[in-house]
Amino acid sequence: MLQRSHKRGVMMEILGFPVDSAGRCKHYHGKNDIVSIKFKCCNSYYPCYKCHDASTDHERQIWVKEEFNEKAILCGNCFHELTINEYIQNQKCSNCNAPFNPNCANHYSKYFEM
Ligand SMILES: [Zn+2]
Ligand SMILES: [Zn+2]
Ligand SMILES: [Zn+2]
Repeated sequence: MLQRSHKRGVMMEILGFPVDSAGRCKHYHGKNDIVSIKFKCCNSYYPCYKCHDASTDHERQIWVKEEFNEKAILCGNCFHELTINEYIQNQKCSNCNAPFNPNCANHYSKYFEM
């Protein structure tokens, strides 16, 4: 399944099991669940690690601290790409100020070296 989102002519593809164009998926679809994460192993955006693991047959790779300046976070509200540092430090979009789900912090280790 594939969700395409258009913003200023840039097309972002969110793989996995998205239920809308804002990055919500069948696993996490609360009001603030609007973040998609790019996975290092396949250079692709998924709404969550469950989407990644169910859609691929390779092992998930996490971002290590030296790579936290990579733009690997997609805001589903404005489709701005944030760095991992920006995401972890603010829990809201640095472009449109949309709040992100603070409970995602419980799962950072699925995505990032903590
Ligand atoms: Zn992957
Ligand atoms: Zn998911
Ligand atoms: Zn935003």
